[in-house]
Amino acid sequence: MQTQSSQASAATRVGDADITIVSDGIVTFPIDFVYDSAPAEEVTVLRSAFRQSPDTQTLQSNVMVADIAGRRVMVDAGGGGKFQPANSGLPANVRAAGIDPESIDLVVFTHLHPDHFWGATDEDNAAPTFPNAELIAPQPDHAFWSQPGLDEKMPSEFAAWIARTTQAHLEQLASRIRLVGPDDAILDEIRYVPTPGHTPGHASLLIEQGDDALLVVGDVLTDPVVSFERPEWAAGYDADGAQASTTRQNLLERLACERLRALANHLPWPGLGYVARHEGRYRWVPADWAV
Ligand SMILES: [Zn+2]
Repeated sequence: MQTQSSQASAATRVGDADITIVSDGIVTFPIDFVYDSAPAEEVTVLRSAFRQSPDTQTLQSNVMVADIAGRRVMVDAGGGGKFQPANSGLPANVRAAGIDPESIDLVVFTHLHPDHFWGATDEDNAAPTFPNAELIAPQPDHAFWSQPGLDEKMPSEFAAWIARTTQAHLEQLASRIRLVGPDDAILDEIRYVPTPGHTPGHASLLIEQGDDALLVVGDVLTDPVVSFERPEWAAGYDADGAQASTTRQNLLERLACERLRALANHLPWPGLGYVARHEGRYRWVPADWAV
């Protein structure tokens, strides 16, 4: 079974802008954590039918670098190996793709979960991974993760550890972070689109160049089968399951109706594709099927 990306980088374009997708490795979760509120037998049958493990959800970590309007923009910064050891390939793969980490001008976060944010510093959280980059975070997500005493409000010791470690990273990077409203522009060509639920301030990113566009959907769509066949099922890693389900269904409908190309951070490498609506359900159509 293939669990790692077979390539470290992939390339596409949005209008005139060059897009490089770089792997940060994989993250894995027990299925009974991810779909703890869904009917277990149906989860197993559905995943098995599509050759997905009934026990473990293995997600790719696809990170995008765009050369757009004279700026080099990265979307999310990976996990730096601090959340899960196999979620750590970004710095090496960025260099292998011919991208100097010092050349990144902006890192734009979809949300501040460990596998997207902790990679913004080195393994000791002592130095920034992308030393010349301004960091852009969606304001509502930053407000959530910055709350004093957040760890004490968390439902488990694991979640409390995530809260404490995220706050240590926010502190280390405070002088570099700029907050942007959930549906505001970051550059003329890049704007946030609010997609809350997975985290309170989760935001997707719409990249438009000429008459071409790409929507980076963050963690709204994580599972290549369940997110499309049963978008109404909440996931254990969604902060607000009901809100995340509503967001997911609205986003799927938009992607399908507008035939908008998507980049999904956790879908099978490299995470580029389209959403098809078929017989009342949705399907993920990898971009290289669209010829
Ligand atoms: Zn994630």
